[in-house]
Amino acid sequence: MTEAVSVTNWAGNITYAAKELHRPHSLGALRALVADSARVRVLGSGHSFNEIAEPGPDGALLSLAGLPPEIEVDTAARTVRVSGGVRYAELARVVHRHGLALANMASLPHISVAGSVATGTHGSGLRNGPLSTAVREVELVTADGSAVRIARGEERFGGAVTALGALGVVTALTLDLEPAFEVEQYVFTELPQAGLDRAAFEAVMGAAYSVSLFTDWGAPGFRQVWVKRRTDRPYAGFDRAVPATGAMHPVPGMPAVNCTAQFGVPGPWHERLPHFRAEFMPSSGAELQSEYLLPLGSAVDALHAVDGIRDALAPLLQTCEIRTVAADDQWLSPAHGRDSVALHFTWIPDTAAVLPVIRRLERALDGFGARPHWGKVFTVRAEVLRERYPRLGDFAALAGELDPAGKFANAFVRDVLGERG
Ligand SMILES: Cc1cc2nc3c(=O)[nH]c(=O)nc-3n(C[C@H](O)[C@H](O)[C@H](O)COP(=O)(O)OP(=O)(O)OC[C@H]3O[C@@H](n4cnc5c(N)ncnc54)[C@H](O)[C@@H]3O)c2cc1C
Repeated sequence: MTEAVSVTNWAGNITYAAKELHRPHSLGALRALVADSARVRVLGSGHSFNEIAEPGPDGALLSLAGLPPEIEVDTAARTVRVSGGVRYAELARVVHRHGLALANMASLPHISVAGSVATGTHGSGLRNGPLSTAVREVELVTADGSAVRIARGEERFGGAVTALGALGVVTALTLDLEPAFEVEQYVFTELPQAGLDRAAFEAVMGAAYSVSLFTDWGAPGFRQVWVKRRTDRPYAGFDRAVPATGAMHPVPGMPAVNCTAQFGVPGPWHERLPHFRAEFMPSSGAELQSEYLLPLGSAVDALHAVDGIRDALAPLLQTCEIRTVAADDQWLSPAHGRDSVALHFTWIPDTAAVLPVIRRLERALDGFGARPHWGKVFTVRAEVLRERYPRLGDFAALAGELDPAGKFANAFVRDVLGERG
């Protein structure tokens, strides 16, 4: 099915340049469509803030929303095979009904699984890698319409999951599961930055399974600390900040009802690991986002560097979230090969005002080897990315092997690979 196209991303800051939108209703139709297209990109749930999903004015945008959603749980193997258009909210409910769980989730369950792992999306936790670490097999339709499977353990698997949509259409993913668990979520306020040295920072971030700090950078220190503890793991409590007295939202002025349950009320993993409830607007809804992953050991120095420019940041900022992400092996993962701290910025929705501040922030973080989140706004150039991603060349070779004519290589991907002037 072909439609004339005027499609925007979730945030509304990008209207994708594309000549048509296709919504195939069968795998056969999808394969034929890919084989017959000159340029094509898949659109997931559109939650990225840049042109990563854009095919370009002569290209086709492909939505998987017309394909039957498939979620096949194998309780014995503790895996789930999920089709390319499914979102985490839908997946989590089915997995939980089988008494199983995903190890971690992002701040919101509204996003598609395939789109999330394609950009290195992550939650928090010293020992939790990005969401892509759960993937054990990828099923792709490649440029000539053929179906290809790449499984964990194969050499090219390192490029196959966090692949920016550049290798083909991900029609299904198989993910690792574990037994279902319960989580209690606590929110604290006013954690001082003073005295937060490396050991103290890692103690804060390691206080529970998943910990996030929030600040508006209006003053030093962190306005909120979100602590998510698994009830099946030891927890010594958190006494470095003051327990919140009312339910909170990380963005000042937004309603706490949009957020998952707090005050330590135990509940299923998928109703506590995200900050935002599936049925409600996540975050503020009128925003831009940027995020950078740096070596965990640089966290305190990097936070001081950010604090040094807070007068420039604060007027444009709705909130800043600090999380940790364990190292993983995906060649293009921002956490590739290094345990990381992730510094996330939710800006006001004003690109012209925000971009100069993003550049200033990137200069402040330059010395820490910051790697940008692929789904958010950044200006880091190809030559810098090449230094920061040691396997970028291997990824380019894999893309060349699976997509020799560059059918899936849009301007964003060519920029990342340094293939545009
Ligand atoms: C409110 C909000 C909160 C967020 N919170 C977090 C967070 O907590 N942690 C975090 O890391 N990120 C977060 N993000 C960023 C978000 O997770 C990423 O942008 C992610 O890529 C969104 O998935 P999507 O399906 O919407 O991707 P899209 O933006 O639709 O697509 C992203 C990329 O994936 C490709 N793609 C999508 N589906 C397929 C497929 N089936 N086959 C091949 N390629 C495909 C697209 O072509 C594109 O290149 C947040 C974003 C928003 C709007």
